[in-house]
Amino acid sequence: MVETTQRLFFALCPDSATRARLARAGAVLHRGWGGRPMRAENLHMTLVFLGAAPAGALDALLALGAAQNLPRTVLRLTHAECWQRSRVAVLCPDEAAVPLLHLVGSLQRGLEAAGLTFDRRAWHPHVTLLRDARCDAGEAVLESIAWDVQEFALLASRHDVSSVRYEALGRWPAGGSWGPPS
Ligand code: ATP
Ligand code: MG
Repeated sequence: MVETTQRLFFALCPDSATRARLARAGAVLHRGWGGRPMRAENLHMTLVFLGAAPAGALDALLALGAAQNLPRTVLRLTHAECWQRSRVAVLCPDEAAVPLLHLVGSLQRGLEAAGLTFDRRAWHPHVTLLRDARCDAGEAVLESIAWDVQEFALLASRHDVSSVRYEALGRWPAGGSWGPPS
């Protein structure tokens, strides 16, 4: 059957060293908050969530991704939180790095201009580390993680019976085409 919609989102994808650090943080949190650790290959930070997007929108989404200029940015994930309502344990920055705020705003404006729907709630930058967490087990203290953001991507989430995996439909490097004058 031809797929007419895909579940899509723009996200930051960690490099392998950051991915390993995030996975280790997830293992530490799991000792206190339980739940199910995210698979390391699925660790990401959502920038804009589109949900079910029509297949015909893909070209516009790839053009929108390619039109962004994301400078190399360090995102400091300083603390863990456990969100009672959604039962997820997450790592968050104290403040979102300004270039990432610009990227989110620019993607949202591009989606708006293209007439595409997306989740318009305020962006709460976080990396989900655990699902089905028990959030009543007190505070978690972790060393902060400095994530040198190297790329963002357009991901499609694909579900099979037992798991979810994200497929990158487009990837764009940070700092690719410009930088301070030398
Ligand atoms: P599952 O829902 O099966 O547990 P998942 O949450 O990993 O899998 P998706 O639901 O496709 O996969 O979500 C992909 C990413 O988008 C996740 O980071 C998720 O937290 C985020 N996300 C999902 N729904 C929304 C939404 N309505 N608004 C903002 N972000 C969302
Ligand atoms: Mg979900």
